Amino acid sequence: MKVAIIANLYHQSKKTAGQLRRFLGKANIAIDQHQPDIVITIGGDGTLLYAFHHYQAQLATVRFIGIHTGHLGFYTDWRDFELDALVQSLANDSKECVEYPLLSVNIHQYGNKEQTYLALNESTLRRFNQTLTADIAIDGEMFERFRGDGVSIATPTGSTAYNKSIGGAVVHPQVKSLQLTEIASLNNRVYRTLGSSLIVPENQCIRLYLEHCEPLVVTIDQNTYTLEDVEYIDYQIAQETIKFAKYRHTNFWHRVKTSFISNSDY
Ligand code: NAD
Repeated sequence: MKVAIIANLYHQSKKTAGQLRRFLGKANIAIDQHQPDIVITIGGDGTLLYAFHHYQAQLATVRFIGIHTGHLGFYTDWRDFELDALVQSLANDSKECVEYPLLSVNIHQYGNKEQTYLALNESTLRRFNQTLTADIAIDGEMFERFRGDGVSIATPTGSTAYNKSIGGAVVHPQVKSLQLTEIASLNNRVYRTLGSSLIVPENQCIRLYLEHCEPLVVTIDQNTYTLEDVEYIDYQIAQETIKFAKYRHTNFWHRVKTSFISNSDY
């Protein structure tokens, strides 16, 4: 087994990374930052998001493990004082994993240009200063004309991130779906959208047709891109998945409760 370590720049994370290297050395587990079987992140959800994009080309062979040095994260199951137990689990690895869906964002520009991105949490779409106008089609059906600040399309595991802050629903990761949530839509006698967020099953595509206008601002998780001449964008559940090593499994609803409501049990 070969392990890569990705830590954020906080002192506690760097210290934990040093300790982990020593534990791995004692267990004769090799460190390989380029072609790992397992990627261990140390920090928070942002560190895991960074590692996901860094190893995106190797998703078929890589499994992830998140160690959190702050509060419980959504992609981090281990604490920084549990390195001994974690390395024991690596030594007894049975290759078991849990897989989560990803979002495929396929951007079509005028002139037959096309590019595809993968998101773990969500992709959002806005314009710089003006409101965004987009015709939204779902599964081939022209659905509504959106006008407002923008839209977010989230994965199930991303549903508790930005999507939740803008009023979207929390979706269990076993429900393979995309969620379209409006960001400050204009709703009056001229412009009308559904208003509630929409949960779209796998195999269905959300297509946004854009006006040929000023540049668009597209976010893919923590990354931001400015794109010109966009004709339409397709959002779908990706063929690829992210895999987490299943040495322990935190119940999703327990995670939601402890993150957003209360740390105590009833
Ligand atoms: P970051 O690492 O500082 O993350 C921001 C916060 O979002 C952290 O508290 C993190 O724990 C939390 N978070 C990230 N993914 C989550 C998930 N799946 N479920 C619940 N909480 C989650 O910032 P970053 O590195 O820029 O991370 C980018 C992510 O931050 C984006 O994908 C977006 O979802 C989120 N974000 C949220 C808001 C908001 O809620 N208003 C605003 C901007 C970005």
